[in-house]
Amino acid sequence: MANRALVISLSLIMQLSIYTVQDVDANINSDTADYSMNQEYSESYDQQTDILEFETENLITTDESLKNPEIEKIKTDIKQESKREIDPNKPMIALTYDDGPSKYTKEILDLLKENNSAATFFVLGSQASKYEETVKQMIENGNQIGNHSYDHKRLTLLNDEELYDQINKTDNLIYEIAMYRPFVMRPPYGSTTEALKEKIQKPIINWSIDTRDWESRNAETITKIICENVKDGDIILMHDLYESSLEASKTVIPELINRGYQLVTISELSESREIILRAGQTYYKIYK
Ligand code: ZN
Repeated sequence: MANRALVISLSLIMQLSIYTVQDVDANINSDTADYSMNQEYSESYDQQTDILEFETENLITTDESLKNPEIEKIKTDIKQESKREIDPNKPMIALTYDDGPSKYTKEILDLLKENNSAATFFVLGSQASKYEETVKQMIENGNQIGNHSYDHKRLTLLNDEELYDQINKTDNLIYEIAMYRPFVMRPPYGSTTEALKEKIQKPIINWSIDTRDWESRNAETITKIICENVKDGDIILMHDLYESSLEASKTVIPELINRGYQLVTISELSESREIILRAGQTYYKIYK
């Protein structure tokens, strides 16, 4: 544990000294996003990689997957140290936030933590590189990170090389930042084909409630859509890119808890329902 603490504090120091937080491009729209390629790697990644070598032995597959090698058991949250207890018999909801991190994400993380809850963040590699501390905080607080591509390309239009670049660059970046490798994917626009799903080699997580927050940019509208439609096992789509989505979260999170829902990650939801998430399949909800 001492070794681990040292690793974390060393990498924190490096992050703080090398990176400055930048605001996300305010014009990003989830349907029309045109993210510029932005590879701001520095030598700090090499230093981190050396340190992180010590940690790789922790990233082993679970006993369960070893016992069932034919099953692609996607065990998530290896790095989670969540103190939350989840009752599989009680209702639960998976909040998901796409396209971040952004300058609003940290506040969403604080809000979740205050409410003893967690969510799943489908992050873009290009944004993760701008908000490294936020990405680390996601995992440290017991949230889940999914891959949402590097810079929001429509994956169905890419050739194989471009596709794997979008996926692998993001996975590697998140691992370098947070020592966590995403097990689930949400392609931009939720757009896939059968061929693409096979190539992605991760469970694809879409949603059952679309708040269309990118369109309304209105906290009341977002809150209303969620509160009027929510059911046990829903996966709710929002974007941690807009202040209105943060404001809606401030109402929605306590309200859902008041109604008796546990706010859980995709992995926690699937494991509580004893559903094995399989690569190449798409999940929209996990009802009982
Ligand atoms: Zn998106």
